[in-house]
Amino acid sequence: MNPYITDKSSQKFNESKQFLAGGVASSLRAAMKPVPLFVENASGSRIIDVDGNTYIDYLLAYGPLILGHAHPALIASVNDASQRGIAYGLQHDGEIQLAKRLTQILPCADKVALSGSGTEAVMLALRLARAYNGKRKIVRFHGHYHGWSDSIFTSFPSPDMHTLANKAENLTPPGTEGQSENSLEDIILLPWNDAEALELVLRQQQHEIAAVISEPVMCNSGCLMPKPGYLEHMRALTQELGIVMILDEVITGFRVGLGGAHGRFGLMPDLVTIGKAMGCGIAISGVAGSRELLEQIDQGKVSHLGTLNGNGLATAAALATITELSREEEQYYIKLEQTGTDLASGIRELLALHQIPGVVNQLGPVFHMMFTHEQQVEDFDAFNKRDAAQYSRFAELMLEAGVLVRTSGLWYVSTEHSAVDVRDTLKAVEQSLIKL
Ligand code: PLP
Repeated sequence: MNPYITDKSSQKFNESKQFLAGGVASSLRAAMKPVPLFVENASGSRIIDVDGNTYIDYLLAYGPLILGHAHPALIASVNDASQRGIAYGLQHDGEIQLAKRLTQILPCADKVALSGSGTEAVMLALRLARAYNGKRKIVRFHGHYHGWSDSIFTSFPSPDMHTLANKAENLTPPGTEGQSENSLEDIILLPWNDAEALELVLRQQQHEIAAVISEPVMCNSGCLMPKPGYLEHMRALTQELGIVMILDEVITGFRVGLGGAHGRFGLMPDLVTIGKAMGCGIAISGVAGSRELLEQIDQGKVSHLGTLNGNGLATAAALATITELSREEEQYYIKLEQTGTDLASGIRELLALHQIPGVVNQLGPVFHMMFTHEQQVEDFDAFNKRDAAQYSRFAELMLEAGVLVRTSGLWYVSTEHSAVDVRDTLKAVEQSLIKL
């Protein structure tokens, strides 16, 4: 077999670094080993790099590509829209159709607002909450990610940061240098899945807390499930205390079901943020939720801005994605669930077979694989005990074996991944585990 070569990607990365800050367009991408890959082409479940290597892709652009790369229905819709102009800065029917469709499929949505990225959707959701109840503090949780805006971006603290003392003192570490020192003053950082801590803080500071924001499943740190009753408790408490409950469904929206995680779990948050899979690779996001909250925009009370919000390409992409995912004869969600389960259970079996301690946490078409001596990973402390360096080495071996996975351990599955892909992927997993 020929050696795995990434010479052209290396050359391009060197060239890129001369002109593009960091050599990549989003900081996270620089973590890829042996080098951030440069892409030539992508279709369905496959991606081809400039060195001619083909990979089965489970990065899926960090989550959006629920229909895989270049799905024909999406391409047709976007091509068609582009013939009529790309963005107008004026209103068009695609916006109405999309907004209407979203109110039909998202249980909590009376109305929606459209933006360009998940980060912007979260910014808007926080603003709507603060304007609604006139309070300013926001409760968020360790290990969750809500985009990179100054007002919410925190680093993922090391395990020793995650102590009761810090819980009380509310130490919120900034995510990056350059972030305004005051930007996190209004953030209260709590451990997730700890109903007692949540109740204590919400009751004590109810007159200051505007909103609680939470990923419904802790996808960004271990794909951790909410404990039974935890999110329901959050819902009941926030309702009782006049606090807005925001579920950040930027990952889970359209991925774990057409109605997102809140649809799947039967929850009714006040607001959800959506993005990623909504546009299947084209930039679009949104906030959906209760009429009273969203109508603050109608009343001119809350400003919601964005030059390219609701542009024709983005609404066409989102409508095509939702229409495709809604096709009953395709049973896409059953297929996504099956593929995710086949991969996750196959990997668990291989870990056991080769006596490599590890855990795979899965919710349908998204799962987190980690090397750890913990029997189960159900909270952020346990997640922090994983061997991240070993996983990064594994991800590199997987590239050599023709499979593209995220260096963090989070895998996304698309409707285009076939049984053959699963079989080939599990072969690559075994090969990589043996070499590890
Ligand atoms: N919220 C969650 C849960 C996310 O995972 C992300 C991105 O990964 C964001 C918000 C930010 O979305 P974007 O990268 O589109 O700004």
